[in-house]
Amino acid sequence: MVQEQGTISINTENIFPIIKKFLYSDHEIFLRELVSNAVDASQKMKRLASLGHYSGELGELKIQVSFDADAKTITISDNGIGMTAEEIKKYINQVAFSGATEFMEKFKEAKDANEIIGRFGLGFYSSFMVADKVEIETLSYQEGAEPAHWTCDGSTSFEINQGSRKERGTTVTLYINEESTEFLDKNRLQGILDKYAKFLPIPVQFGTKTESVPDGEDKDGKPKYRSVEVDNIINNTNPIWIKTPSSLTDEDYLSFYQELYPFQEEPLFWIHLNVDYPFNLTGVLYFPKLKNDFEITKNKIKLFSRQVFITDEVKDIVPEFLLLLHGVIDSPDIPLNVSRSFLQADSNVKKINSYISRKVAEKLQELFTKDRKAYEEKWNDIGIFVKYGALSDEKFFEKAKDFILLTNTEKEHYTLTEYEAKVKDFQTDKNGNLVYLYTIDAEHQHSYVQAAHKKGYDVLLMNSPLDNHFIQHLEMKLEKTSMKRVDADILDKLIEKEDIEKHKLTEDETKSLQTIFDKAIGNATMKVEVESLPADAMPVTLTEEEWMRRMKDMSKMGGGGGMNFYGSMPDNFKVAVNANHPLITKILSAKEAQQIVLAKQAFDLALLAKGMLKGKDLTAFVERSVEVL
Ligand code: ADP
Repeated sequence: MVQEQGTISINTENIFPIIKKFLYSDHEIFLRELVSNAVDASQKMKRLASLGHYSGELGELKIQVSFDADAKTITISDNGIGMTAEEIKKYINQVAFSGATEFMEKFKEAKDANEIIGRFGLGFYSSFMVADKVEIETLSYQEGAEPAHWTCDGSTSFEINQGSRKERGTTVTLYINEESTEFLDKNRLQGILDKYAKFLPIPVQFGTKTESVPDGEDKDGKPKYRSVEVDNIINNTNPIWIKTPSSLTDEDYLSFYQELYPFQEEPLFWIHLNVDYPFNLTGVLYFPKLKNDFEITKNKIKLFSRQVFITDEVKDIVPEFLLLLHGVIDSPDIPLNVSRSFLQADSNVKKINSYISRKVAEKLQELFTKDRKAYEEKWNDIGIFVKYGALSDEKFFEKAKDFILLTNTEKEHYTLTEYEAKVKDFQTDKNGNLVYLYTIDAEHQHSYVQAAHKKGYDVLLMNSPLDNHFIQHLEMKLEKTSMKRVDADILDKLIEKEDIEKHKLTEDETKSLQTIFDKAIGNATMKVEVESLPADAMPVTLTEEEWMRRMKDMSKMGGGGGMNFYGSMPDNFKVAVNANHPLITKILSAKEAQQIVLAKQAFDLALLAKGMLKGKDLTAFVERSVEVL
């Protein structure tokens, strides 16, 4: 006998078509919503019992998800608080649609189902995305409560009548519509549950599985086993991020990492986040071992809200430079269902952002202070985070400047302060400016590095993909300090000292050398200059001006608009001819034809040292060398 019929709300004539149409892309979240409701109902039950408001048998709280492909149903069942008929009317019929008018106005702006569902409390109604008809069988925990049955066929009318449920709790049955039969599939459902329900706080059972259990011994005394059907619980109800860090071992963290990202290489270290004021947040962030090539990590940070998986698009919640991290963040205080622009402006989100950034800085500081050697060994990997962080977050740089390491070609690591102390005496120029020399590739630029070492200078290794930017940043941050690549000029010009000596050639000799080399090189963009270099330095050195090279490097990396101007500029090479080298003396006194050959040979050696001698020119050089020998 029908007890009551009614319409859900006068404003909702069109709501179901809208739900169906606009929530199309993420239909699967109906399961997250219904299972979350079941979790809430179970946790409320737990709380009531623990507060002494329920004296009955609590039993084993559990959520069951099942499906029947023939009947085309999916069922979500819990033994939580249940609902009375009155509560159904209040919570299901009215509450969900109290904002219906607003909904009708706003749905046009909404980008996805999350936004609509969250903002309008339509969790339960998301079931109509996949079902023609939904049924609720429920029995409230309250003493003397009558079971209730609710059914709605997706139109705006519903029916409530006497239910048949004997045990406390709620069963929701979805009659899956024609377009959604994909969900009547074990693997599909298992996949959705793995994604959203893996760490829910109440056990979720999905079907059964067979397990082998000990079954006495056979006649030879060997243990026997038999298979039994057991409930297949799909979730870990007690994930480590909700535990206290002091109760956990390294193994716990590592095995949780494996649980999150199976078959991944071990992370370097991790940070356990735990704060409850002024916002609520727990989580574990792992520093992965980065591959050389800065791969876009597919193992992204997962965002949960009270153990319900929400998304792995955490761009706005986690500082950008930490998006390379792995792990989980769980916070009920992050507005999960609003648009991105709102999220960015949200004050909680901002606080969370800077909290995470601070925590990471503290952890790095701690690692650095506690075990510097281990920190240095990991620097190769964490350097990327730290530099990225320093570049993109001023506050982070302020903290990180104590544990940013500079590495030289000898693979020695120095903090910024240590390095300044190390090179100050030798590498300060006549104007009191400190010059840090660097190479992007110690092998490739070996002859330049060696020349610098001979002079007692130190050379930093700047070979990570970020160093281009990092170098500029350091110059901005460090006082009276500039960074110059070892091949940017001859050393005496890179670090200009008072007592720089002029070369001893006459003006005529200088002019004639320039003419010889201009002819030999035959390239007007190469600027020949006669310099006074040590007699044992190279006869000719090719250098490339620092600033213009940086600009060109930047525009190659895809720097925006105006930068392309530099990309089209000619290269800025200087050919430094060493006036003190015996070969140059020889060139000056040689016959004209010989002069050009020798000059060409000397220039090619310079190209070779810079790694620029290739193709036809290289072959010609090799042939000419053989001839000369
Ligand atoms: P929300 O979960 O955001 O409140 P829903 O539409 O999903 O919105 O649910 C509306 C209300 O219906 C819930 O707040 C709860 O009171 C009630 N409810 C839904 N599912 C259950 C359930 N399985 N057991 C008990 N109450 C439920």
